[in-house]
Amino acid sequence: MSTQTTPRPGTGIAAVLFDLDGTLVTTHIDFAAMRAGVLAVVTDVGVPAEDVAGLDILGSVGYATAWVRAREGEAAAAALARRAEAAMVEAELRGLEGAGPAPFAGEVLAALAERGIGTAIVTRNCRRVTEAVLALAGLSCPVILTRDDGQRHKPDPAPLHAALARLRVPPAAAVMVGDHTMDIIAGRAAGTHTVGLLLPDRPPDYFAAVAPDLVVSDLRGLLPFVLGTPD
Ligand SMILES: [Mg+2]
Repeated sequence: MSTQTTPRPGTGIAAVLFDLDGTLVTTHIDFAAMRAGVLAVVTDVGVPAEDVAGLDILGSVGYATAWVRAREGEAAAAALARRAEAAMVEAELRGLEGAGPAPFAGEVLAALAERGIGTAIVTRNCRRVTEAVLALAGLSCPVILTRDDGQRHKPDPAPLHAALARLRVPPAAAVMVGDHTMDIIAGRAAGTHTVGLLLPDRPPDYFAAVAPDLVVSDLRGLLPFVLGTPD
């Protein structure tokens, strides 16, 4: 598949990196249940619950894996990582029921592709669930980076850099768009422009602390930022 991109005159944007959940698709992943499932696994092997209390789900898995590795070695750490992954996948698979495209996702992806803008999905979901939800939503994207594709995950900029390398686009010519503050933090750390998609159930000042370049309440609001004046 071609990854030829064309920077837009006026905006200089050549690629858009999309978050998946809440941005391109709607799922019903119960993140509280996922967190509880992971916490059960990591405390079961002796990791103190208070050690991971302030970490996000993938952060707590990373911490617990390193904790076990330091005490019991690589095999035990790998076993823990597999159990934690299974707990996450279980919650993700349950969230697939009723999944579908987010408003205007197909339209916006098509508009960008039509104008030679590269697109990628950068998600913390596993590949199996990512592919399943995209199929359910009837969406596709030429470059997809999941948590199975690297050791570091948003808000770390590493997966964004990996996606941009695949698209052959420098960060300054790209936009990261997502519905979560971690998407904006990751984009800023990667050196991309950032667009926050404000979901209807979030407070109007949800993005205030991370200050994306633009906040939109509808994915189509991204298009003028990327494309500039209409063709
Ligand atoms: Mg999201």
